[in-house]
Amino acid sequence: MAIVAQTEKLIPLVGWGRVLAGALRSADELLQAVELTVADFPEGLSIAQQFPVLVPQPFVELMRKGDPCDPLLLQVLPLAAEEQMHPDFSIDPLGEQDTNVATGVIHKYHGRVLLLAASGCAVNCRYCFRRHFPYSDNRLGRTQWQAALDYIAQDASISEVILSGGDPLMLQDERLAELVTAIAQIPHVQRLRVHSRLPVVIAERLTEQLTDILTRTRLRSTLVLHVNHPRELTPMHAERLGKLRQAGVTLLNQTVLLKGVNDSAQVLIELSETLFDHHLLPYYLHVLDRVQGAQHFDVSSTEAYALYQQMLAQLPGYLVPKLVREEAGQPHKTPLHAF
Ligand code: SF4
Repeated sequence: MAIVAQTEKLIPLVGWGRVLAGALRSADELLQAVELTVADFPEGLSIAQQFPVLVPQPFVELMRKGDPCDPLLLQVLPLAAEEQMHPDFSIDPLGEQDTNVATGVIHKYHGRVLLLAASGCAVNCRYCFRRHFPYSDNRLGRTQWQAALDYIAQDASISEVILSGGDPLMLQDERLAELVTAIAQIPHVQRLRVHSRLPVVIAERLTEQLTDILTRTRLRSTLVLHVNHPRELTPMHAERLGKLRQAGVTLLNQTVLLKGVNDSAQVLIELSETLFDHHLLPYYLHVLDRVQGAQHFDVSSTEAYALYQQMLAQLPGYLVPKLVREEAGQPHKTPLHAF
């Protein structure tokens, strides 16, 4: 099997790469862009640097100016609440480090495996369950790529490869193409899934080359985006996602239920309808993974289930995502039942 080239290579400063290069990288810059000051946040901001601010301009432009409660802003602004410790919140809430079977490979569930194709993201979401993940130990260089592909090749039960990260669409298209080609050479792999938030914050990432990569392979391709609020989607998303869907890529979305962002039935219902208008089907509504630093986003299971019931009552079934919690050591995501 051919070795895929190294993953981390400089992203060219054209198209989406140029937009990414112009991303805001400090809370001060972000506050200035949305016409707010630290004084607008009585609880203060976090000064810890381990998980830096990173927000592309197109996402900032969708925020309401002068609104400290803006649901897009709250996803990316480091509040002082991140520094609070809570015994139920840990640095590895999903026990991923136990399923990190090879460098860059997470094998949790039967039949599918996760490849951490890139260690960076285009946006740093404050609630991210991988905010403490040891990416530096999981960088895939040439040797590790081969080992990761060999791991998949030696297990005939793996029929689906999920490209994750970080964000796998941080890879240049040429490199992504090499990776998809190498995966397609493994006969027992039938499906390719790409999990990404990058096109949500930079719609230009939905390039024609990406469509080619996902459709000119024998693998059946699914792109799973991560949209949390209806205001995150724009006409450019509708146009580019429409082309992907026309080309035959299955398009899904997963959402994290976040206090202050989307914890209302009205917002969740509007989100499902907006997703559909943008060619995406709601797939999962995740209860927050209990990662240290994200306690302030937590919505209780009881509240989550009540919201889910309202969605069931007001939406057609195909627009109601599965409400799930991910639990370390479980063989699948856990559906939430009545509490
Ligand atoms: S884009 Fe995804 S992986 Fe990256 S910080 Fe946001 S939630 Fe985490």
